[in-house]
Amino acid sequence: MTEQYQHRARKRFGQNFLHDAGVIDRILRSIHAKPEDRMLEIGPGQGALTKGLLNSGAQLDVVELDKDLIPILNQQFAGKSNFNLHQGDALKFDFNSLSAAPSSLRVVGNLPYNISTPLIFHLLHNSHLIRDMHFMLQKEVVERLAAGPGGGDWGRLSIMVQYHCRVEHLFNVGPGAFNPPPKVDSAIVRLVPHTVLPHPAKDHRLLERVVREAFNQRRKTLRNTLKLLLSNAEIEAAGVDGSLRPEQLDLAAFVRLADQLSEQDLHKPADA
Ligand code: SAM
Repeated sequence: MTEQYQHRARKRFGQNFLHDAGVIDRILRSIHAKPEDRMLEIGPGQGALTKGLLNSGAQLDVVELDKDLIPILNQQFAGKSNFNLHQGDALKFDFNSLSAAPSSLRVVGNLPYNISTPLIFHLLHNSHLIRDMHFMLQKEVVERLAAGPGGGDWGRLSIMVQYHCRVEHLFNVGPGAFNPPPKVDSAIVRLVPHTVLPHPAKDHRLLERVVREAFNQRRKTLRNTLKLLLSNAEIEAAGVDGSLRPEQLDLAAFVRLADQLSEQDLHKPADA
């Protein structure tokens, strides 16, 4: 156990290690791992969450990028039959390699904040495998994930994540729970992929495109920001008022705009 404290936290790997036993316990209780669970932990670090996850009896794979942490993790956990360590980049990890059944994999992690958004998008591409995800993220990111239409937090991240998942902002965690303390507040979020999408788009890449285009200039009206994709008449045909700003639209309205776009020839310039 003494080696645990000889590792110097590396900023480039986003290393802020949890040391507050109360916070660790609260996170583990929120996850509520069971012996029959198939779990994946991203960035186990020095094992703050790993230990409790393994003690639940769940089958746990972990992916850690920092080679220097591998001996520290192995020393603590290699003897456990439910522990399986992968050294590598979670952004490149093939989740299918865990051969999990549909909607079975439970993903957890106190994520390195610099990769949290691309990692969530990478996981969403495999959302059919995932039962739920529990992440520690920067508090502002959790607020954007959980936001509803009408405010400044509602944007591309909220819409694309809520297209795939139910989002729950569970609780906030202050900087003092970590070593070293980060400069920002953190929060725990639960993401549960929908088994049936509430607002399925005909082509989900077109939804991404409409949302990206709309929020590129979030202060402008939709008829302005979307003019290269849809005419005002096409926006109205989707049941959307072209004089609104993108943050005033809910997910269902964005899906209607994407479906309207899928109706037309994408190479044809939209009428003014
Ligand atoms: N889970 C530990 C805890 O709560 O104390 C560590 C959390 S620390 C915020 C993030 C961890 O993710 C570090 O151990 C870091 O080395 C690891 N990490 C950073 N980038 C990674 C990546 N691309 N893939 C996998 N692990 C990564």
